[in-house]
Amino acid sequence: MKKTNQLPTAFLAGLLLALPPLSAPALAEEDLAVTEIVETVDLDQPAATDGWSFPVALEDMNPEYIVLANKHYLLSEDYVPRDLVKVPKDPKKGGIKWKSAPKEGHQLRKDCAEALCAMNAAMREIDGFQEMYLKSAYRSYRTQKTMYRNRLAKHNGKDDGWVSQPGASDHQTGLGCDVIPYNWTKKSGMNEKMMQEEECQWMAAHCHEYGFIIRYPAEKKDWTEINTEPWHLRYVGIPVATYIAENGLCLEEFHQQLQAAIDGYLAAGGDRSRVEAFIQVSSDEN
Ligand SMILES: [Zn+2]
Repeated sequence: MKKTNQLPTAFLAGLLLALPPLSAPALAEEDLAVTEIVETVDLDQPAATDGWSFPVALEDMNPEYIVLANKHYLLSEDYVPRDLVKVPKDPKKGGIKWKSAPKEGHQLRKDCAEALCAMNAAMREIDGFQEMYLKSAYRSYRTQKTMYRNRLAKHNGKDDGWVSQPGASDHQTGLGCDVIPYNWTKKSGMNEKMMQEEECQWMAAHCHEYGFIIRYPAEKKDWTEINTEPWHLRYVGIPVATYIAENGLCLEEFHQQLQAAIDGYLAAGGDRSRVEAFIQVSSDEN
């Protein structure tokens, strides 16, 4: 991954040239030209003593973007993402269509909203693709509570696996969104047959390029305990999404791998302050 701390070569060369002559003899003895010296200063390499052996660097993960929300890792009632923005709804101006939305509009965390709009812009360029629309985005704990209660009432008090309990919804993270081909609901309702739509197949294959994963894939029901949802995207950032896609994981599996890597890192004497923010303890243990 590209590091932002790489200094321009010209700047380094300037620094070396500006060194007082007294510090130069050792270099002169080696008969190295300034350009050769500069090439030996490799700022792109992680420090050898880093100790972090997980395939995704700590610097490439935002702990807030990989937060797990499910029935074993409940978000608190007051968990509200701090940078929610209203998603622009005009696709001609770089937004994504809505059909209906809560009165404050559909909201997502800023990076997630931008990534979604970028992905939608790319999809609109593809011949034969229908317009996509944003059906659902951020939902508060309270909204989820109402939805869950209504769902139970409709099914004689039974949880049918379609609506998460409050605190367990990926939508509360402000990083989960339901993205649907425009004409779909008129045809068949919300079910896994949506995967037949080429737009959904495209999203499954390409959403990681924008930092998203399909949060509830068909083959991961044992892990997610949620029915297949080809429409539910979850923003985790590009490095993590790419790792998850390349390794065929779901977020629960990724979380398990990461927590194991953190345990290993700490057991080997790693710096706790570097990984503290990534540690998420199951609510089952409380
Ligand atoms: Zn959803």
